[in-house]
Amino acid sequence: MKRQDPAKGGTAGDGGADDARPPEDELRSEVRAWIAANRLEGLSPGGAHEPYDHEQTEAEREWVDRLRLGRWLCLSWPRAYGGRGLDGVRCAVVNEEFARAGLPRPHLGMGETLLAPAVLAYGTEEQRARVLPRILSGEDVYCQGFSEPDAGSDLAGLATVGVVDGDEVVVTGQKVWTSGAQHATMIFALCRTDPDAPRHRGLSYVLLPMADNGIDVRPLRQMAGARGFNQVFLTGARAPLDNVIGGLGNGWRVAMTTLGAERGGNATTQHLGYQRELAALIDTARANGRSADPVVRQRLADAAIHVRLMEYAGLRLLGSLSNGEDPGPAASIDKLFWSEYHRRFGELAMDVLGVAATVRPDGPGYPVDPYQRIFLESRARTIARGSSEVQRNVIAERVLGLPRA
Ligand SMILES: Cc1cc2nc3c(=O)[nH]c(=O)nc-3n(C[C@H](O)[C@H](O)[C@H](O)COP(=O)(O)OP(=O)(O)OC[C@H]3O[C@@H](n4cnc5c(N)ncnc54)[C@H](O)[C@@H]3O)c2cc1C
Repeated sequence: MKRQDPAKGGTAGDGGADDARPPEDELRSEVRAWIAANRLEGLSPGGAHEPYDHEQTEAEREWVDRLRLGRWLCLSWPRAYGGRGLDGVRCAVVNEEFARAGLPRPHLGMGETLLAPAVLAYGTEEQRARVLPRILSGEDVYCQGFSEPDAGSDLAGLATVGVVDGDEVVVTGQKVWTSGAQHATMIFALCRTDPDAPRHRGLSYVLLPMADNGIDVRPLRQMAGARGFNQVFLTGARAPLDNVIGGLGNGWRVAMTTLGAERGGNATTQHLGYQRELAALIDTARANGRSADPVVRQRLADAAIHVRLMEYAGLRLLGSLSNGEDPGPAASIDKLFWSEYHRRFGELAMDVLGVAATVRPDGPGYPVDPYQRIFLESRARTIARGSSEVQRNVIAERVLGLPRA
């Protein structure tokens, strides 16, 4: 049976950014000219999310190198640290041009997306100048060490301890669900440096080297077979006090910047991966005859409406960014919307495939086809970076102003 690859997209509802968006003509021309001179064949624009165990291909590495040389990475960072100082609207312009050319514009992982906003907000000048260029050059690859076995949604309950020893902090404890720790050279971790302070106050945000530093990484296998996250055991892991961001005891505030990091720059392109996946599923349903079932047709139409809503929500976000407004807790609406949509999309894909969905492809290890992977991995994304229940609480309390639970 013909199954379309959701990462490559299908013929129905093909995505492409609209020509008539923000009038940042000069930047748009610059990106177009650069892409025309530097484009690389063999890159997939990708589905909505990379698989959890995605390993960079040679072509992807080469593409990141070209983007680095062209200064198309870390766009929002100040120029002094290698960025372009672009606001959300201009980042969207750049992303639209890459999407229009059918090319990815990758980011540099958690170092760029989660740590950098915290370092820019709370780091000293010396820390910014030391930490950010090493992320941009690829010398430092970061993972996020926040969650612990008894501290996930209730992060302030974390038990990992940091003890100051001369001009160093020595960290001991256990982290869990640490994505990408197996590839990381550094971890930004929260630890308790003042056990006598109230729970939210005695925490510190520390950058720890991973190698030869008492850090043991043990992979955890996820439902779809990927070993994308890990348990991380820290036994006397050391970092200079210069690696504490925001000062000792200030970790909660710094962590909130990381957790609230809202780039906004992909607002008008983030729906395109979902659109490609849906177009491929519609083609698959046509090929195997499931599109004749009125209930399946209705669910596909419902999915199309959701993807269109994501596009409009992106435009609205861009509108508020261009008015200088901070989207704030509205980011929770976005996260809840795409993660719950994608979980339902995975279920719909299984129903479109019918009994074929229960058959795994041949191959060593634990192979799953792209739809089975979406079905299984989309569930994890309703938990990661704040579960749906917690997002609903944020929306209820901070957006709608309802009383606290
Ligand atoms: C794929 C994946 C990748 C991850 N990567 C990382 C990473 O790189 N680094 C990192 O630090 N962490 C990571 N996490 C951890 C993630 O942040 C936590 O799983 C998440 O915050 C939930 O915490 P928990 O797993 O401890 O569940 P718990 O907090 O124990 O929650 C259990 C259940 O109770 C519900 N619940 C909890 N509190 C409330 C409440 N107040 N109101 C209503 N319901 C509530 C939750 O929604 C959930 O259903 C990852 C998780 C996943 C799934």
